[in-house]
Amino acid sequence: MSDRLYLDWPFLEARHRDLVTGLDAWAAAHVGGAHGKDVDAECRALVRALGQAGWLQHAVFRDGMDAGRPVDTRAICLIRETLARHSGLADFAFAMQGLGSGAISLAGTPAQRERYLPGVAEGRLIAAFALSVPQAGSDVAAMQCSGRVEGDHVVIDGEKTWISNGGIADFYVVFARTGEAPGTRGISAFVVDAGTPGFEIAERIDVIAPHPLARLKFTNCRLPLSQRIGAGGEGFKIAMRTLDVFRTSVAAAALGFARRALHEALGRATSRKMFGGVLADFQLTQASLARMATTVESSALLTYRAAWLRDQGRTVTREAAMAKLEATEGAQRVIDAAVQVFGGLGVVSEQPVERLYREIRSLRIYEGATEVQQLIIGRELLKGWNA
Ligand SMILES: Cc1cc2nc3c(=O)[nH]c(=O)nc-3n(C[C@H](O)[C@H](O)[C@H](O)COP(=O)(O)OP(=O)(O)OC[C@H]3O[C@@H](n4cnc5c(N)ncnc54)[C@H](O)[C@@H]3O)c2cc1C
Repeated sequence: MSDRLYLDWPFLEARHRDLVTGLDAWAAAHVGGAHGKDVDAECRALVRALGQAGWLQHAVFRDGMDAGRPVDTRAICLIRETLARHSGLADFAFAMQGLGSGAISLAGTPAQRERYLPGVAEGRLIAAFALSVPQAGSDVAAMQCSGRVEGDHVVIDGEKTWISNGGIADFYVVFARTGEAPGTRGISAFVVDAGTPGFEIAERIDVIAPHPLARLKFTNCRLPLSQRIGAGGEGFKIAMRTLDVFRTSVAAAALGFARRALHEALGRATSRKMFGGVLADFQLTQASLARMATTVESSALLTYRAAWLRDQGRTVTREAAMAKLEATEGAQRVIDAAVQVFGGLGVVSEQPVERLYREIRSLRIYEGATEVQQLIIGRELLKGWNA
């Protein structure tokens, strides 16, 4: 298939091509595109299936990140891209196991790793990453959720919101202000097991592309300090390092959605009979398809460049921001154009392009909104200019 030619790009190696071929076949057999009514049950089943088939091993690092086995960013990206082509929920299930366990892989004690990571990798335990608070999403440093250290315990009070897997997770990595220093140096990370007294799901949140999401509430939630990840005050650094591993993969997920939209649009444009021919006969349609294909290819180039550079041990602050910015914004445009090609059918509930139209939207907001990525790129450019 011509849309697989990118697998021969020099950024990728033979093992990556084999990975995509294997996962594509597995996903075709195990992952349905449409979502039923019980998104919690579907998500649990997907996590279990992804774990049993071994795919989660690529996102979860039982022996610590970059220690036993180096992070293969390209593999994570290819898996997200491939799953996103098949199902947004499957991509979500995969990504959250990595994001939710990343802090433990990066900075957890051997006991924490042993207790949580094998279960996450095998799909027996569901993980969540709880950073955002109602008062501060983009401005993480302004977080108000507090952690008060009392002897060998910490007491957490406050709220977290927009927490993916909220309501179905077995544990939550929670970032709270512990006050060792002002600003970002006064935040610590803790693992909170579901069912811990003082911790509750305050609200389940319905979003346009359904997946488990909740607001969490902590009231006098007491944990032994052995549940802290890393030292006191290191939480912000740990959160940023975790996001750094997965940021490029958000671009890859957007790319998967865009590729699927282009595939659907090509199918429709070449089969829809119109004015004695088919829709694809018209140059205006060809121009739209050409723009879509060019956006997909440029997003892929930026995404796999960033992933490859990261795998070479390079800092990819600028490259990952460019990839996320361009791939998520570009995918939104590609999917919108695909809906247009489908006409009325494009807005019918649960048509593939209608689903993609809803799936892509939040990727432009989470893990650093588009404007945040622009600020990062601008800052990096100016840093270079002054040097
Ligand atoms: C579906 C979904 C899943 C999520 N899952 C998780 C999760 O698992 N864990 C977690 O911790 N959080 C999660 N989030 C939260 C997400 O990270 C935040 O929504 C995001 O950081 C934005 O924060 P906010 O919603 O408070 O928006 P705000 O911070 O209020 O920002 C609103 C808008 O302001 C703009 N903006 C932001 N900064 C600037 C700037 N400097 N200059 C100009 N404009 C700017 C952006 O357009 C942004 O969308 C999720 C969000 C969504 C939508």
